[in-house]
Formats: sequence, C-alpha cells, structure tokens
Amino acid sequence: MSETTETPGIPETPGIPETLVRRSPWPDSVSRAVVMPLQPSVVYASADPDQLDAQYEGRVAGFTYAREGHPNASVLAARIDALEGAPAAGGGGLILGSGMAAVSAVLLGLLKAGDHVLGGDQLYGRTLRLMAQDLPRLGIATSLADPTDAAAFAAAIRPETRLILVEVVSNPTLRVADMEGIIALARARGIAVAVDNTFTTPRGYRPFGHGADIVIHSVTKMLAGHSDVTLGYVATRDPAQSRAIRDFAVTTGMTPSPFDCWLADRGLMSFHLRYDRAEANAAALADHLAGLAGVARVIYPTRADHPDHNRARAILGARGGHMLSFEVRGGRAAANALTRAMPDVAFAPTLGDIGTTLSHPASSSHRLLDGAGRAAIGISEGFFRVSVGVEDIAVLKRDFAAGVGAAQEAAG
Ligand SMILES: *Cc1c(COP(=O)(O)O)cnc(C)c1O
Repeated sequence: MSETTETPGIPETPGIPETLVRRSPWPDSVSRAVVMPLQPSVVYASADPDQLDAQYEGRVAGFTYAREGHPNASVLAARIDALEGAPAAGGGGLILGSGMAAVSAVLLGLLKAGDHVLGGDQLYGRTLRLMAQDLPRLGIATSLADPTDAAAFAAAIRPETRLILVEVVSNPTLRVADMEGIIALARARGIAVAVDNTFTTPRGYRPFGHGADIVIHSVTKMLAGHSDVTLGYVATRDPAQSRAIRDFAVTTGMTPSPFDCWLADRGLMSFHLRYDRAEANAAALADHLAGLAGVARVIYPTRADHPDHNRARAILGARGGHMLSFEVRGGRAAANALTRAMPDVAFAPTLGDIGTTLSHPASSSHRLLDGAGRAAIGISEGFFRVSVGVEDIAVLKRDFAAGVGAAQEAAG
C-alpha cells in the first residue's frame, strides 16, 4: 500500500476558492439601511501609511482599532450628547463599558496625587467605594458632604480641591441636591463640577444648562432601559478634559462592545416615551402607596411631604422622575413577606428597566453599613426603593397593595 499525502475531499475546481479567508467588501447600495448597522470589527484597514498618519493626526476621519473607538459607540455618544445638550466645544461624549467605568475615567483621568475631590455623601455605592478606598491609595484625597446643604459643601472645600462630584437626586432616599448653590460656589473657586445624571436623566435635568462641567451616565439604566447592556457615558465642556478622560479610558481598556452600543442605541430610541410613562406611573403609585395602611412613609420628589419639596420644584419642576421609595412597618419579616407577595415585580438591585423593579437597600446597596449607619440616613429593614416601569398603572397598584398587605400581616 502506498502512502498518500493528498488531503481527502473533492478535487479543486477552477474558479471556486478552496478557502474563504479573504476580507470581502460590504455590498454597495444606493439605498441605505434604515436600522443602525452593527459593526463588530476590531480593526479597520487603511489604504497606506500616509492615510494612517492622517487618521491618527485627525486630518481625516477614520477608525483604526476598536478599543480607541468604533462607529456604534460614536453614534450612541452623539445621540446622548444631543439629549444632554453637551457643548460642541468639549468635542463630544465618550461611551464606556459601564457607568462605573465612566465615573472611574473622570476621577482617575483628571486627578493626580495631592489633589482632593469632594463628593455628595449619598453617591452610588461603588462610587463611594472608589472614593473611600482606591483614590486614597493613589494619593488622591477625598471627602463627602451633604449635597442638600451648599454651605456644608463650601466648608468642605480645600485649597487642593480639583473636582466636585454630585448626583442630583440621591439613592435611595431621593434627596434633591442644591445644584445651583454647589455649582455657583464651585465656579467662583474654579473647581470643576461633575454630575452623575443617571437618576434624573436628561429629561429631568440637564447639568450643562446649569453650568456643570462634566456629565456622567450609567447608560445601563433608563437610557438603554432594558437591563440587557452595561454601559457608561461621559461628556465635558473642556476639550483638554475630554482628551484626558478619553486617553485614560482607551489606555485602561474601558471601551464598550459594539453590540452593547447597538442595543443601547435601539433602547434610546424609545427613552422619552418610557421615561414619561414611568414618571406618570411613579407619581400615581407614590400617591397610591401613601394611602395604604401599613406604609409608614413615601418619598417622591413632587409630593408636598418630600423633605426637599421646594428645591425639587425649583430644580425639577413637575418632573418627579421614575424613582420612588417607601417604608413599611415590621422589619425584615415584613420585607420578606412583601417581595414574596408580589412576584411579578422583579426584586432586583437595579433601576431604569422598562419593567418595575424593587430593591431593598438594607440587604443590597447599603448592606455594608451597620444598623446605626443606615438609621442615620433613614434606611430601615422596611425601606424599599422602586424603579417604576411602564406597566399598566392599575396592575402596579394591585401588585403593591398585595405586597404591602402581606407585609402588614407579617408585622402582626
Ligand atoms: C448604576 C449606577 C452607576 C454605575 O453604573 P454601572 O453601569 O452599573 O456601572 C453609577 N451611578 C449611578 C447613579 C447609578 O445608578
């Protein structure tokens, strides 16, 4: 028997390639796609080194490598820029792999050892952790102050304070920051103000229009709106700051996936409809909860019993947003009974989904605080935060009545 070196298979046929390893061009079409294309390419081929030079030097527009930018991120950033009224001078916003990547890129891209950053005392949990643990390790000093009190912020400013980071509406007690006061005192001292606008969204508040320097979003939440992507956004009014943040994000690989950007762009298309419906539902649900026996407290910015009601009026107008919080009597047993009695409302520590979600800060976002620490900001075992969705309001009222009823029974 003779050995064969031929590979088995059908014989070669002239005109039919043996392999398909050749990058094929996209078909030309005089008509264009209506739906945003998805471009997963990691690399982009240029004609020659001269063209690549021109691209890197910004003389011609062209993508090179996806970590440095890709069309789906550019499209999404431009759309959020439009919603936020991001100043063109800043060069346009940047999409990052998560909201925390956006927060991190701002703090780490702009600050250096010896600088001080001042934050609101009820910032998002991971932001607080970044400020408490990671920045100090790098020699960046941090401290927190009550953002409902501009005088407290003024008192906390140091000669080396370079940045102030605030959220307009706090999590989960929905306190409304004194935005005008804080921005005014920062401007007078030449300190940049970064606003994490995730809770308020550009439909509730537009920080650039009020003098803020940097706007941050967790796009994961209401902007994308379907709990299927994790993304962040940041824009500034100063091109040097934009470049510093972008360079840091590209170097440290905070880049988003094209598919996530594509999904978020699709979600963003209906953002205004979802937001308005969710907000109307939230206002109605807040009033409904306030009328239920067993509910000790309801927190919603446009309600007259909100602790910052007047400021909410001034800053947010009639836009109370899609978040509300409430408290039932009866501790952990009542809390367990509540979530079990309303299985159609996802008990999940997120917000901004198209459907209503319920979170329990004592066992999730604020679990690292002890009882006294939680009590100091008004979070008991019976405290719930609701991210209201676009469901039929009658269904939501029924669900929450069932939950609160079960909680009351468990409380005895
Ligand atoms: C969720 C959230 C973040 C973090 O966003 P991720 O996309 O989860 O990383 C930051 N700030 C606020 C206010 C948030 O709600």
